[in-house]
Amino acid sequence: MEIISTAKEMQQRSDQFRQQGKTIAFVPTMGYLHEGHLALMREGKEQGDKLIISIFVNPTQFGPAEDYEQYPRDMQRDLKLAQKVGVDCVFTPSAQELYPDGFQTAVEVEGVTQNLCGISRPGHFRGVTTIVAKLFNIVKPHIALFGQKDYQQLVAIKRMVDDLNIDTEIIGIPTVRERDGLAMSSRNAYLSPKKRKEAAKLYRSLRKGEELFRQGEKNTTTILNTVRGGIEETKPEKIDYIKICDAHTLEDIEEIKDDAIIAIAVQIGKTRLIDNIILKEV
Ligand code: AMP
Repeated sequence: MEIISTAKEMQQRSDQFRQQGKTIAFVPTMGYLHEGHLALMREGKEQGDKLIISIFVNPTQFGPAEDYEQYPRDMQRDLKLAQKVGVDCVFTPSAQELYPDGFQTAVEVEGVTQNLCGISRPGHFRGVTTIVAKLFNIVKPHIALFGQKDYQQLVAIKRMVDDLNIDTEIIGIPTVRERDGLAMSSRNAYLSPKKRKEAAKLYRSLRKGEELFRQGEKNTTTILNTVRGGIEETKPEKIDYIKICDAHTLEDIEEIKDDAIIAIAVQIGKTRLIDNIILKEV
């Protein structure tokens, strides 16, 4: 497994892969890898000839009061896990490498980043789409894999790729969960054992909402009341949002007529957790 830390070197390596006729699959991450990341990598390994991942805690997607400094990091452990999955190259740039002095460009997707996390994390998606656009220009992937856990991020990246004619296929991967249903996240490491137990109720609440939908309920207020009831049992420090949105536009809806998503962001202890469930007619 190669470890590459400069953009130039990564670009040259990717050019070589392409010249050899290899399909490049790419999984961008912020590291502190867990089974969710590994599921993306395994699928990337299936779909591409060469698997490249990046490990980079991107400063521009964190707000000034957020956890950039505290974000968990363990490069040695991550590299071992990546090697086990069969990653070909790990791109591990420094912040200075990607944002040198004088950097002054951003990529901003408009509509789909306005609601949900866009309200409480101003500038977050601008940071995400800018770094992903940069990484795509460095890694030159044919396909890139993203988790549905960060559903709004996935939609924003698909939008960016369509709007900017980026020649990379975006693949969404279902959320990987702990045995009790909690969506895997690097930030789960912040939870105390007591809060960790409470956190499992988030997914159970989403499931209750999904169940109502399956029984024929289409009114979102009714479904949201049920979900909210379950979430309030966890005595969260803060409920940022509990919403049902159109799965494509991410606008709030009153009646479910098409693909929709129940999305939540809740602070448990000091940890802000997000999760969602996709509602599709089957
Ligand atoms: P992160 O390191 O948190 O930026 O995540 C890197 C990628 O892994 C993103 O595409 C995430 O959506 C994805 N991811 C994170 N957690 C999960 C999970 N539990 N299941 C599936 N994908 C995930």
